[in-house]
Amino acid sequence: KNFVKNNLIQKSTIKWEDIGGLEEVKQLMMETIVISALQKPASIQPWKGILLFGPPGTGKTLLASACAGSLEATFFNVKASSVSSKYYGESSKIISALYDVARELHPSIVFIDEIDALTTKRSDGISEASRRMLSTLLTELDGFQDKGSDRLILTLSATNTPWDLDEAVLSRFSRRIYIPLPDKKATKEIIKINTKGLKLDVNLDEIADKCVERLYSGRDLKNLCQDAIWNMIRDVNKDLYKMANLSYKELKRRKLKTRALTDD
Ligand code: ATP
Repeated sequence: KNFVKNNLIQKSTIKWEDIGGLEEVKQLMMETIVISALQKPASIQPWKGILLFGPPGTGKTLLASACAGSLEATFFNVKASSVSSKYYGESSKIISALYDVARELHPSIVFIDEIDALTTKRSDGISEASRRMLSTLLTELDGFQDKGSDRLILTLSATNTPWDLDEAVLSRFSRRIYIPLPDKKATKEIIKINTKGLKLDVNLDEIADKCVERLYSGRDLKNLCQDAIWNMIRDVNKDLYKMANLSYKELKRRKLKTRALTDD
């Protein structure tokens, strides 16, 4: 339990408006968490789990984090592959402990990234640890309703390769949501989110067209914005490389010129 508390809980400060595009997905997830959180008639089955699938870097982790942020829930961020390989033999215990802590600290959002890593067919030891971890996870998902009727514990999982998942996993995640690459409108929104507060003196339409053509993901767009920001900083601090030999104290005294980049 201490391991879970110290390593798998993350503070979530992400809000829905920090996510560009994905309007329908955001709407659906908001509905899901609101319905799950409210007292519902017995005939409405809460989603036991939601599976987010799609290309890498499209905002799956961000969506899970926004769910937690909006509910002020405890956010458990678990990369399945690293738990199953690093904590071989202990990984299924970690999953049980994870759900114990999630019940203790409810409301909780449990995010299992790369869930496909648990079902990939391999004959080595890792595969055995993964198999046990998966079966504990599926048991926890099944027991979700009985053990925690008044507690909200929502499990979200993500994969880039849904075709690697077997039926046992797919059937447990009754809600499956495709997270696509951003279209032009979403691309513009993501660029704006990642350059917030900066003067943008560019043709956003043209840039967005090129990014969509090159199949840029949200992560690619974020990196693009970071590169652009660094180039702007270099431009207004032309002697940046000359500063490389200065002491930390001297660097602090000189400060980077960043005012020229901001809107105010
Ligand atoms: P992976 O499948 O590789 O785990 P992912 O789908 O979980 O990736 P995220 O980790 O959510 O992707 O996104 C990576 C980063 O890219 C985010 O931290 C964010 O900065 C940026 N990003 C991705 N999608 C969006 C989006 N729709 N809006 C704003 N930023 C985005």
